[in-house]
Amino acid sequence: MSELPPIERYQTNHGLTIYRLPMIVFPNGFVGYAYLVLGGDVPTLIDAGSGYGRSSQDLLDGLRAVREDFGEAFDVGDIRRVLITHGHVDHFGGLSDAIRAIGAPQVAIHPLDKRVLTNYEERVVVATKNLEIYLVRAGVRQERLTELMEMYGFSKKHVRSLKVDFVIDEDHPLPGMEFYHVPGHCSGQVAIRLGDVLLSADHILPRTSPHLAAESITHYTGVGHYRESLRKMATLDGIRLTLGGHESPIDDLHARIHELQSRLDLKAERVLDIIRSADHPLTISEISKQLYTDKHGFDVLLALQEAGAHVEYLYDRGYLAVANLHEFEHDDNPSLMYSVL
Ligand SMILES: [Zn+2]
Ligand SMILES: [Zn+2]
Repeated sequence: MSELPPIERYQTNHGLTIYRLPMIVFPNGFVGYAYLVLGGDVPTLIDAGSGYGRSSQDLLDGLRAVREDFGEAFDVGDIRRVLITHGHVDHFGGLSDAIRAIGAPQVAIHPLDKRVLTNYEERVVVATKNLEIYLVRAGVRQERLTELMEMYGFSKKHVRSLKVDFVIDEDHPLPGMEFYHVPGHCSGQVAIRLGDVLLSADHILPRTSPHLAAESITHYTGVGHYRESLRKMATLDGIRLTLGGHESPIDDLHARIHELQSRLDLKAERVLDIIRSADHPLTISEISKQLYTDKHGFDVLLALQEAGAHVEYLYDRGYLAVANLHEFEHDDNPSLMYSVL
């Protein structure tokens, strides 16, 4: 189960070398990748794994193998810069371990995810509160709510705030690196272009449609932003290879973007069908159960967030109406029920 994929080396058309460093980022065997970029102005690490279980050890083993197995004149302490592609724990949770091993690299992230790093404890409290309000509105029953919130809290315990030295800015490329802000999966999600190679992080993956959460939980996430970000990536020319934060490399970026867009169209149709064919207006929780059948544990929470992302997208664009407006007006935080307009 916990089989680690090999370290891979890639060359860009403008002379950079990229090492893909595999890590088991979650105890269930989920694999994530960090990338080491050599040959630019300074050795740069992109992402740092989760810090759970063996993740940081996998990262360090990978960094050492770059010299030992690939013969690079590179030492872990040579890294001068760590770029975090987005504020999800499987990408930054291992950052303090990485910094300890490296020494004192400059750390950067997009401004919209900066607080996740610098004010982590505050961020957890605010995000947890937003999630709880969201789940009540989504129609989750009290017992279930307690269970889901416990699960959510459990996944956040090992990380502490740390400092960010500069922010990633689309208008300020670094030597050999261009940045694109591609929110949707995460508010501060960035993709990084290195010549003919695109590091797409979790914005574009080859097999999975990246997880999207409702924007009412966190600004700049959700289906609307995600679709805009896909369109932004569709304008890129000359990308030969796309490397994500998980899963295998993508050879045809534009074909993959097209698939992801089609899946979103289908999902929107499916949500409308579910609501249309019900004999009463539905909550997000009811829609989620039909949209994502047979989900357990943490996946229930992800399904609820994702169903809400699709419902919000359709509501904002005038496809849905709130059916229990009177209740919504008079109760504190009632669950919302949707009908098709
Ligand atoms: Zn992510
Ligand atoms: Zn990820």
